[in-house]
Amino acid sequence: MWSAEEVARLCYERYGALPRTGMPQMGREWTLLAAVVKMSSSQQHQAAPEVVALGTGTKCIGQSKMNGRGNILNDSHAEVVARRGFIRYLTEQLRGALKGQDSGIFSPGTERSRWRLRPGVSFIFFTSHTPCGDASIIPMVASQDQPCQPIRAPSDITDHLTKGKSGVEASPSKRKAEENGEPVKRLKTCPLDCAVVGEGGSVLGEEGSDPPHGSSTGSGPGSSETAPDSKGPDVHRTGAKCVPTAKQDPLRPGEGYHCVGVLRVKPGRGDRTLSLCCSDKLARWNVVGCQGALLSHFLQEPIYFSAVVTGECPYSQEAMKRALMDRCAHVTDLPPGYSVRAPELRHASLEFPHSHRLVQGTHDSSKGRVTPCGAAISWCAVPDQPLDVTANGYKQGVTKKALGTAQARSLICKAELFSSFKSLVVSALELPDSLRGKELKTYWDYKQAAEGYQKAWEKLREQAFSEWVRSPRELLQFE
Ligand SMILES: [Zn+2]
Repeated sequence: MWSAEEVARLCYERYGALPRTGMPQMGREWTLLAAVVKMSSSQQHQAAPEVVALGTGTKCIGQSKMNGRGNILNDSHAEVVARRGFIRYLTEQLRGALKGQDSGIFSPGTERSRWRLRPGVSFIFFTSHTPCGDASIIPMVASQDQPCQPIRAPSDITDHLTKGKSGVEASPSKRKAEENGEPVKRLKTCPLDCAVVGEGGSVLGEEGSDPPHGSSTGSGPGSSETAPDSKGPDVHRTGAKCVPTAKQDPLRPGEGYHCVGVLRVKPGRGDRTLSLCCSDKLARWNVVGCQGALLSHFLQEPIYFSAVVTGECPYSQEAMKRALMDRCAHVTDLPPGYSVRAPELRHASLEFPHSHRLVQGTHDSSKGRVTPCGAAISWCAVPDQPLDVTANGYKQGVTKKALGTAQARSLICKAELFSSFKSLVVSALELPDSLRGKELKTYWDYKQAAEGYQKAWEKLREQAFSEWVRSPRELLQFE
């Protein structure tokens, strides 16, 4: 059996062992972390859990920056970055399997050139924070309606991180603070420790950043309402707006501010984004799988996360279940191999050392205000170039002149994932039926040809997510 703490610790350790490139600036910047953890057991033994993909990031580009070359990352939220790294990992594993090598995770399916996970292999999705959007609309209990003193993070947190040690256990740090005579509130009853309110009560968080986790103040344009002082029931708020065609938030004071269960788009920098919130994407992966349309050509069954573990932050099991599962629970008529999954939901008490709340606690005001880190780190367990650091959707540090060139592309952008998928097709000794005898050229063509996947996605849209904002087709026609 695994524990949520063990999964969280493992992910923080993996992060702590990475080079510093793309990590937040000490004492001033924060970020969010997500990861995929492989679990495997056989009749003989249980292998140790292993992080196979990891992502950090808080940003999302606006619609005006999207292009039809597939060379920019539209959505760099940690969950999305981690999942794209996971696709790189799966592609690499399939490459081995197709060559007849012994893959650690795949075994041949019953259909021609299609694979399935080995018995006993499963994947857990970890996120350091409640996913943005619907899952972040969390009721506040009566004792939470006043912002309370942030806990000063002990200085050894950063030491822990630089030494590559694990994350921060809530209780020992609190004990330390108590010993020092500092005011301490219990985390479990006081999620407003994490409220995104800066000095002088100003609203922090930048446009285009994910609100850390069910923060009481939004971070998107037009959402800078402060938490009401009323003593009535209230909810944590999200800066993500409902998709334009859906029911809209009533914006009434207190708990009537938001509507729940609605698809939401991520706040962008300046202009609006077309990216759906992480709550919505996770809900979708529970139905169509997390492998994407392309890899489903080589997979007999989609790959589902068996559990979702969330690190220490404001959290509601009820809101998670509503956002990730209940909205799709009634979907039927899915093609063979597909089904609506209900991953186990668990909450760990270990906090991510670079979380907004802990950075706030050690904030050095001489360095400027606390801001989300602009870079996104992707790491995955592949032999060639496991690390990929981006900013604004392109490789970090590329010059303006180089944008548009292959060197500026992230290894997890659509064009790169498509190119490694095509090399997989070329290397296959036999093609699966879905790719045989077809004239396929573009990214769009290959995605559409994945019939089972497309059918499942269509059923999900028809029955639950009809308002899903889809990327314009002309942006997916690259070769
Ligand atoms: Zn998000």
